[in-house]
Amino acid sequence: MGEDAKIRLLDLDLTELKAFVRSLNMPEYRAGQIMGRLLIGDDIENITTLSKADRERLKEAAVSGIPEIMLVRESKLDETVKFLFKLYDGVLVECVLMKYNYGYSVCVSSQAGCRMGCKFCASSGIAFSRDLTPGEILGQIIAVNKFKNIRIGHIVIMGIGEPLDNYDNIIKFLKIVTSPDGLNISARKISLSTCGIVPNIFRLAGENIPVTLSVSLHNPFDEERSEIMPVNKRFPLDELFAACREYVKITGRRVTFEYSLIAGVNDSRRHAGELARRLSHLQCHVNLIPVNKVTGTGFERPDRSAIERFKGYLEEKGIEATVRRELGRDISAACGQLRKSVITEETQQ
Ligand code: SF4
Repeated sequence: MGEDAKIRLLDLDLTELKAFVRSLNMPEYRAGQIMGRLLIGDDIENITTLSKADRERLKEAAVSGIPEIMLVRESKLDETVKFLFKLYDGVLVECVLMKYNYGYSVCVSSQAGCRMGCKFCASSGIAFSRDLTPGEILGQIIAVNKFKNIRIGHIVIMGIGEPLDNYDNIIKFLKIVTSPDGLNISARKISLSTCGIVPNIFRLAGENIPVTLSVSLHNPFDEERSEIMPVNKRFPLDELFAACREYVKITGRRVTFEYSLIAGVNDSRRHAGELARRLSHLQCHVNLIPVNKVTGTGFERPDRSAIERFKGYLEEKGIEATVRRELGRDISAACGQLRKSVITEETQQ
């Protein structure tokens, strides 16, 4: 069987893995042993609790599905590390490891490329290739854990791609990653970022996986938001905030709003006032992110005093806000930047 046609084991949850091992005439309990070893990054060859004959049988029909690390860039300014992975079909995705005082957090990609076309984002300049499977998202975490010999405790789904545009695969990933049979990471330690695919925010609210919903907002005015985020034309702000209120009501979790501050575009007092007005009855927190300079966008970050003024205004109105600490500035840590630079280099050769 060709490698591409084989089952990728990390895509299977434990029930599916049990059925798969039974189909290979192996006892069902082997599934738990296999999953345990895959989750620590072992390849089939290294699962020595299986007999050599069983490993051979497994290798005939399946591959582990752990992505290949192609490039690692470590920041000299902090402990941020950026990884570029090559998937089985040559597609490139990236993830970023960050160290906080509460432990390690990883920002994973959910798609190869993105269809959403946000103007400030490095992923927009590269064509969308495909959705990532649950195992390809999970595999990023496993590969990083193994490479750094650590145990990641927090996950941010905020890398390349719009997770709610890859809904079924994201839900399966979340079920595996939060399961005691999987990585057993609490939903409370996972943030899912969306640009605002409203119907899928409602669906997510009903999944009983209370992750932190993190909404990329960036502008409180429909017309202006539509200019930098085309998704706003399909799902304008009133609908988006209605979905957020429902998410808070059903999950009991406050929503986080991401607001990239762009000089002269969305950093005025008028913007701060409208933002505060819209958020006034919502249990939420605002993360202010001085925009990352991405080649070709022409966007600049506001100076420090403009950022503090914006934050101060929100706080005056009772809206909690923090300015996000920037990590990995020297290694193109913003989503899509490393992949974009590698793909651009390749296409220029
Ligand atoms: S910001 Fe997110 S949703 Fe928007 S284009 Fe970039 S990856 Fe896609």
